[in-house]
Amino acid sequence: MIKKNLHKITESLPSQVTLVAVTKTKPNVDIIQAYEAGHRDFGENKIQEMQVKHKDLPKDIRWHMIGHVQRNKVKYMAEFVHLIHGVDSLKLLKEINKQAKKYNRVIKCLLQARIAQEETKFGLPLNEIKSLIESDEFIDLQNIKISGLMGMASFTDNQNQIREEFNSLSNFYKDIKNTTETSNLKLDTLSMGMSADYPIAIEEGSTMIRVGSAIFGLRNYIT
Ligand SMILES: *Cc1c(COP(=O)(O)O)cnc(C)c1O
Repeated sequence: MIKKNLHKITESLPSQVTLVAVTKTKPNVDIIQAYEAGHRDFGENKIQEMQVKHKDLPKDIRWHMIGHVQRNKVKYMAEFVHLIHGVDSLKLLKEINKQAKKYNRVIKCLLQARIAQEETKFGLPLNEIKSLIESDEFIDLQNIKISGLMGMASFTDNQNQIREEFNSLSNFYKDIKNTTETSNLKLDTLSMGMSADYPIAIEEGSTMIRVGSAIFGLRNYIT
């Protein structure tokens, strides 16, 4: 079933869109199914769960941290993480930079934008993203690279609202991409879209979707 679901989704994707298969709460046997089908990009939302899976699974997997990141846990993933999607403060970015330096790495990050109209504590308002990347302190961080933006739409059945939210992020992304490039910022990734809304996200310009339940089935608990 996993291979079938995966194939159905990848087949429908435009070539510029990368699929991150979201495996949070799912066992390694499920991940191996997708791996055997050729898939390499996997997403987790808890650092320690990702750390254990990284240890046990093939080393050519690209691990994406898609959840909220606690600063004191960055050290557990700094050696291997491929892309951190949920960066939402300069303080966190500084910690990622510090840990990346220890491993002589440059860690790619996405800044998480708050686009949902619903109440949420995650992500930065668009104007704060702008001031972050224009700040003097940001330029000093040479062991991180901002390669794009990430956003989540409201949890709603209102398709127009979802589209509007994705559209606002997409316009902002294009604006930054065309106007700003520094040694530690060059945008090529717009991470938006999950199982329920990825077709709309792609129509609005997403280049990376994070899909879990549509591939691996429903999770036993909400995370
Ligand atoms: C769980 C999760 C997803 C995937 O959700 P599905 O609805 O199962 O596709 C995508 N993005 C983030 C940030 C998540 O936490």
